[in-house]
Amino acid sequence: MKRDTHLVVLLLLVIGCSLASLTVWKVLVSRDRALEEVDVHGLNLTQALTTYSEGIVRQSSLLLLGLVERLETEGSGPAQLQRLSALIDRQELLMPQLRGITIYDNQGRWLMSSNQSIMAGGNSSDRTYFIHHRGDPSREIYIGPPIKSHSNQEWVITVSQRVNGPHGEFAGVVVVTLGVKNFLQLFGQLDVGQEGAIGLSYTDGTLLVRYPFREQDMGRNFSKSPIFAKYLVDQSVGTASFTSSLDGVARLYAFRRSDQLPLITIVALGKREALAVWRTEALLSAVVVTGLLGLTGLIGWFLILGIRRRIKAEDQLREIQQQLLSSNRQLELLAMRDALTGLANRRCFDQSLAMEARRAQRESTTLALLMLDIDYFKRFNDSLGHVAGDACLQTFSKIFEACVKRSSDLVARYGGEEFGIIMPDTNSHGAAVVAQLILDRLKQENIPHNSSPFGRLSVSIGIVTASGSQLDNVQGLIEAADHALYRAKALGRNQFVRG
Ligand code: GH3
Ligand code: MG
Ligand code: MG
Repeated sequence: MKRDTHLVVLLLLVIGCSLASLTVWKVLVSRDRALEEVDVHGLNLTQALTTYSEGIVRQSSLLLLGLVERLETEGSGPAQLQRLSALIDRQELLMPQLRGITIYDNQGRWLMSSNQSIMAGGNSSDRTYFIHHRGDPSREIYIGPPIKSHSNQEWVITVSQRVNGPHGEFAGVVVVTLGVKNFLQLFGQLDVGQEGAIGLSYTDGTLLVRYPFREQDMGRNFSKSPIFAKYLVDQSVGTASFTSSLDGVARLYAFRRSDQLPLITIVALGKREALAVWRTEALLSAVVVTGLLGLTGLIGWFLILGIRRRIKAEDQLREIQQQLLSSNRQLELLAMRDALTGLANRRCFDQSLAMEARRAQRESTTLALLMLDIDYFKRFNDSLGHVAGDACLQTFSKIFEACVKRSSDLVARYGGEEFGIIMPDTNSHGAAVVAQLILDRLKQENIPHNSSPFGRLSVSIGIVTASGSQLDNVQGLIEAADHALYRAKALGRNQFVRG
């Protein structure tokens, strides 16, 4: 039973541990999967944004190519500039990102601009793109850092190309300005959460556009940030996860370097936000599993309680059974005892005699039987009363028991003032010795009996011994002993007679 309780506890522990470890494993796996999904999502976004940015820059460079070629072949006279202006106007309709196109001479002076708000005669010789092209004979386009437009203070990105004179000398610059606002409008349509960000940078780490827009970050160099300093060193596409040193927010980054242009797109998603759905699911799993564990524990507890109750009930039952057995034994004993003297009663005498007769036959021994009857007991009763008679019967019982020495001998009250003594493995001589001992003891005791010719209480004894086939008839044995007793009475009482 105790083993059952231990088994239930073990079973509960196994179920509990399995369920808990399975849940932890499942939650950890689903977290990894959620992070993987975020990475894939981020990489897809960088792909789309890189393609978008490349497209705009490529459109701008095509435009520049056409304009520069015309300027170089046709010159920059007023008539030519007017024709270019008409061409630019048409282009502006096709490119919503286009903020303006400006042509500068070799001194940085404005020759023509699609943006009417630019003041005639304005000078941009201090602009990075002008300085770059003046010093670099390359015909490559140049993507400049974001600047604030002189005319309307709007943040723009410049894409520019050098114009050469007939002898390859520096003749000016054509600049296409792209509105940061347009990039932000597109970036803003992508869901990157509250903590997410999208950035478009130059390969040297200069930030061109960032969503959400932060004035202080425009044109800032992020070459020291982990993405540039660690990951982009040997990777052009990849993902990373770290806590921003700027705002302390842990983010998942996806970055991609453009194959064709010196541009890098970075998409960052807040880790906490990215794992929000996973967290809710994990919490739900934890609640369900905790509930299940609690329920299992409760069922187990009831099971253990049931087992304990059963153990207790069985213990009680066993105790009651023991009590019943001992009561039965006592009852049996009582059924075999004489209430007045405490000796074996008639029933016990009959059973024992039959049993000892069989044993004596089996073991080929002699069985002796003594029948005793108190002399003139009626008179004793009549003169001293029944109470004294009863006391006398008790005294006789003690004397008889004291006279038989062997534990196998049995003294019984046969009925009234008659007694029987069964003595296994005892011959006639042995029986006579015991009978004589009884007579002698009674003489010694000398219990007064005025109505007896002996003046004291005495007993007459009939002895019979039997062996072998004589033992077949137990009843005959009693009758023979009774007969011997009768003869002892007839011969004057206070003596024994062998039958
Ligand atoms: P005898 O010498 O021939 O045996 O004479 P007796 O008087 O003993 O014989 P009898 O059988 O006539 O009387 C037996 C008496 O024993 C009758 C009864 O008064 C008494 N007696 C029998 N059983 C009990 C008992 O349980 N208690 C008491 N006090 N007396 C008993
Ligand atoms: Mg009698
Ligand atoms: Mg008598």
